[in-house]
Amino acid sequence: MNYNYRYRLYPTDDQREALAWTLDTCRQVYNHFLNRLNEADDIPSEYAQKNTLPDLKREWSDLKQIHSKVLQVVVERLYNNLRTLSGQKENGYNVGALRWKGAGWYKSFTYSQSGFTLIETDTRRDRLRLSKIGEVPIAYHREIPENATIKQVCIKRDSTGNWYATLGIETDEQPEKPAPETIDPKDTVGIDVGILKYAHDTDGTAVESLDLSDERERLRREQRTLSRKVKGSNNYEKQRTIVARCHDRIKRKRRDFLHKLGRYYVETYDVVAVEDLNVRGMMEQDRNSRNTAHSAWRTFIEILRYKAESAGTHLVEVNPRGTTKECSNCGVETDKPLWVREHSCPSCGYEDDRDANAAKNILQRAFSELGMGQAESAWFERRSLSSSRKSPIFERPPETATATDTRVVSASRVIERGSPALNERGRQTERSRAG
Ligand SMILES: [Zn+2]
Repeated sequence: MNYNYRYRLYPTDDQREALAWTLDTCRQVYNHFLNRLNEADDIPSEYAQKNTLPDLKREWSDLKQIHSKVLQVVVERLYNNLRTLSGQKENGYNVGALRWKGAGWYKSFTYSQSGFTLIETDTRRDRLRLSKIGEVPIAYHREIPENATIKQVCIKRDSTGNWYATLGIETDEQPEKPAPETIDPKDTVGIDVGILKYAHDTDGTAVESLDLSDERERLRREQRTLSRKVKGSNNYEKQRTIVARCHDRIKRKRRDFLHKLGRYYVETYDVVAVEDLNVRGMMEQDRNSRNTAHSAWRTFIEILRYKAESAGTHLVEVNPRGTTKECSNCGVETDKPLWVREHSCPSCGYEDDRDANAAKNILQRAFSELGMGQAESAWFERRSLSSSRKSPIFERPPETATATDTRVVSASRVIERGSPALNERGRQTERSRAG
């Protein structure tokens, strides 16, 4: 299992200078090798190029100030870019299409396998020892798993001038996912991304969208100020940093929210079901209005995906076709315009919140995919087709099927408490119907 953990660095002024110098020198090395490729008749192999590094160091003595693995990764990156650009092309590489990196266009350098040590201290800041740079204070806010080894360290400067280290971590142990037939239906959840609510799940939790209006307003204000400054002046540069910080704050807040929400779902349930966005994306190509929500949702699913792996949770991405139209009680499809917030089935009379109904369909599809027929009938105690598989314990006449009450949770609550749960799951004391 591989993970990336990202930490903020707090370099001293000297270290800051050394980091910036290393970054820029790596950029020059990148350009140097790109130039060689451009001039070569036959593209030399990556291996051959790496082998020229010791010679290069003799001519270009500054390079001795950079850890050798870091330089090797620069060459690797060039060849990776080349391979990406060339794609499936049979007849070699299209070197001409690779871009020369101007100042500021090279944003990170990487220690691979060696040249770094994480030092835990008793003080507020732990330290990351980087070869040729020093012991850089690090905000080690999240511990890496005990059985993990750090494979690489990527050092990056963001647009605000802050430095970050991303630790590439590998663990050999991966928790096993429970066998589908042993999973209690109570430990499963389907989540639908709504339009009004951010996420609506089958346990009746509707998490609201993150309200970033204050942050966005602040950003607009700072951008207006920036537009009045003389480009290139000291004041302009100062203001540019402020604007970048505003962007950064929005990004961090959103990330924090999505991570906490994702962690809650994978740690609470054995099965988490969502819509397959690749299919859904194709269905909704023209619907620009939802693009922002869509991209946040995509990020959320990526977070769920890797968190589910490390938590031993099944993440099932189901076909989204018709999840909103279909009645989760009887399976009959009815067209619903976007503004209709309630599901009301003309066939069986079942009524529910639109997104809650969709979430139930999503979970049900996940059951089919995992072969959890038993759980399916326990959860949905209906559908004439599945009646033969019904578990007698859960059997109830279909007419008693009722909508789950919806508990609306604000995004800020998720951020503060780390989860949308009020107490432990199941104790829904502050229930309210979604409007
Ligand atoms: Zn129905």
